Amino acid sequence: MSELFKLGIKEAREGLAKGDFTSVELTQSIIDRYHTENPKIGAYLTFDEEGALAAARANPKAVPIAIKDLINVKGQPCTCASKILEGYVSPYDATVIKNLKANDFICAGRVNMDEFAMGSSTENSALGRTVNPYDVTRVPGGSSGGSAAAVGGDLCIAALGTDTGGSIRQPASFCNCVGLKPSYGRVSRFGVTAFASSLDQVGPMTKSVEDAAILLQALAGHDEMDGTTPNEPVPDYLKALEGASLKGVKIGLPKEYYIDGVDPEVKRITDEAIKKCEAAGAELVEVSLPHTEYAMAVYYVVAPAEASANLARFDGVRYGHRSAKSDNVFNLYARSRAEGFGPEVKRRIIMGTYVLSSGYYDAYYGRASKVRTLIRRDFEEVFQKVDTLLTPVAPTPAFKIGANQDPLTMYLNDLFTIPSALAGNCSMSVPTSFTNDTKMPVGVQFIADAYREDKLLRIARAYEQVIA
Ligand code: GLN
Repeated sequence: MSELFKLGIKEAREGLAKGDFTSVELTQSIIDRYHTENPKIGAYLTFDEEGALAAARANPKAVPIAIKDLINVKGQPCTCASKILEGYVSPYDATVIKNLKANDFICAGRVNMDEFAMGSSTENSALGRTVNPYDVTRVPGGSSGGSAAAVGGDLCIAALGTDTGGSIRQPASFCNCVGLKPSYGRVSRFGVTAFASSLDQVGPMTKSVEDAAILLQALAGHDEMDGTTPNEPVPDYLKALEGASLKGVKIGLPKEYYIDGVDPEVKRITDEAIKKCEAAGAELVEVSLPHTEYAMAVYYVVAPAEASANLARFDGVRYGHRSAKSDNVFNLYARSRAEGFGPEVKRRIIMGTYVLSSGYYDAYYGRASKVRTLIRRDFEEVFQKVDTLLTPVAPTPAFKIGANQDPLTMYLNDLFTIPSALAGNCSMSVPTSFTNDTKMPVGVQFIADAYREDKLLRIARAYEQVIA
């Protein structure tokens, strides 16, 4: 009965069904944990305690879940960890939130992130500091660092994150949780504040692969409010896990992901994971994704370009912060944005505006879009031959707070997560082991063909058992 906050979704649901505890007790346990741990970890920005308890009283099956602070929940703040949205209250529920509520989840805790999801350490949050629950001198990763710290530190049962270039998978690896980036279009983006619309996806961050399957089931599917969600049936993800085994599974090892410069402990852990998969009956195949080397450059044209267009809506008139110093309309826009956005967001807006400007569009955005097609084709070809790819998630384990001051070094964190995001594939980070020296968690990444989350989850479930 004590320490209910340690439970995952499946165990919490089983306990509720058996009457071992009530939803109010479960929710209260998370609230108590929030009070003792959040001052140290800083995972949450806000927590609607009254709302959570009221929802638990109204629905005896309900399980509380933490929501990244860029997904709209009616009546709650939605700051994107930016000063420009401080004080903003959502007037409606995002589709994913509607889906969660309909599936017996309580959405009351809002977790920290890099401002507008731009970053890899959550240090770009303008509203609070989140640290790694495994070592408070280290970052939790990002941009979904609050979600990962909340799951990894048992401050929640499960969480929602978003991934544009790695923001679910990298923090999941840093904080020892399962993080799944669904294929592009599998989950609705309606009501999710846009960073780069052709890349963003909402996904589960959980304590087990089974929980990721449960949560994805609730999230996935066609939404008439999001034209990029195809009207295709959603497989039964829990069923896909039944009898999961690695026997005969063809695991591709892309040579472009096994390169110099990867931290030796990450390399050791990944190599050991590969050996365990082989011992469990998987067939290892060396493969090549020849355009991988261009992925980073493509991402840092496409993502800022789309961000610069998406963030134009924050003009001091329609949403959030409005400068008190403006005496004419131009100053109102310029000063509100200058005061409201942090340095990384401004950097992306400047880059994005530049690559989209007339005379440069073809040279940068147009060309990047073409190379993106080549990257997608690499994956399409490789998935003719193998069931999944196994790679490191990030080149390093969680690093020290303040260690990556240079934006370009920070960008390198996403070397292994960006290509599959550009291609629109599904991929996930699965907890694997700990570094010998610093005892920090490290996950490995599995990548599968677009819309094959069933296969991805099945392989991850088998792997989870192999690694245990
Ligand atoms: N770290 C990457 C960036 O800063 C990815 C962020 C994300 O996936 N939201 O753009």
